[in-house]
Amino acid sequence: MPKLRVCALYPDLMNIYADRGNLLMLERRCAWRGIGFELQAAGFGDRIDPDAHDLFYMGGGQDRDQELCAADLVATKREGLEAAAAAGRVIMGVCGGFQLLGHAYALGDRDIPGLGLVDVRTVRSADPRLIGNVAIEVALDGPGGPRQVLAGFENHAGRTHLGPGEEPLGRVLTGHGNTGESGFEGVRRGNVVGTYLHGPLLPKNAWFADWLIRTATGADALEPLDDSLEDAAHELARRVAGA
Ligand code: GLN
Repeated sequence: MPKLRVCALYPDLMNIYADRGNLLMLERRCAWRGIGFELQAAGFGDRIDPDAHDLFYMGGGQDRDQELCAADLVATKREGLEAAAAAGRVIMGVCGGFQLLGHAYALGDRDIPGLGLVDVRTVRSADPRLIGNVAIEVALDGPGGPRQVLAGFENHAGRTHLGPGEEPLGRVLTGHGNTGESGFEGVRRGNVVGTYLHGPLLPKNAWFADWLIRTATGADALEPLDDSLEDAAHELARRVAGA
């Protein structure tokens, strides 16, 4: 039986806006299809075995909680996560988790260190937080492939800048995105994905949950599910975002 093995990084601290709901969504969609699902948490002091998991997940958090995790993240988990990324495992960070995938989150008087898995840098701004419903257009198979919409909610003080050559996850249709100005949202380098979209993200975007499951397990296709409720949630999230 195929199986999705998930490692949740700091699931207690990095869980703002119920981001842990993303894990429930993955678990349900696997269970409904008879795909095995294994969830392990990695907290303080835990090292990462890159071969023991198919998907690594870190949700959002307040600056304070991010700072609590960051030193441990870099000291005990960076090496394993670098190896996981190199092996093509899926690594997904949401909001504070997205920021920690990059080099650093600069608070002004000090930096919160990040994993440096992607060439992005976040700077906390004294300007108003970027808050609201958001919709982005993504083309996961490249520019020639189908375009799909992710809908969610964002609330961040950090402005995230992509280094040269680094690709965003999507283009902002409505809302602020990484900086409020760049038109970019999130980051994607291979199977390392970061996004500011909360809500949590996956229940509003079932198609993206399935992309993660497919990519992480290497499955060619997934059995279709009755997604009438999920599709209605997606449409509503798009509508409130104005997309
Ligand atoms: N603390 C970070 C910021 O405000 C991330 C917030 C979040 O995860 N919602 O930019």
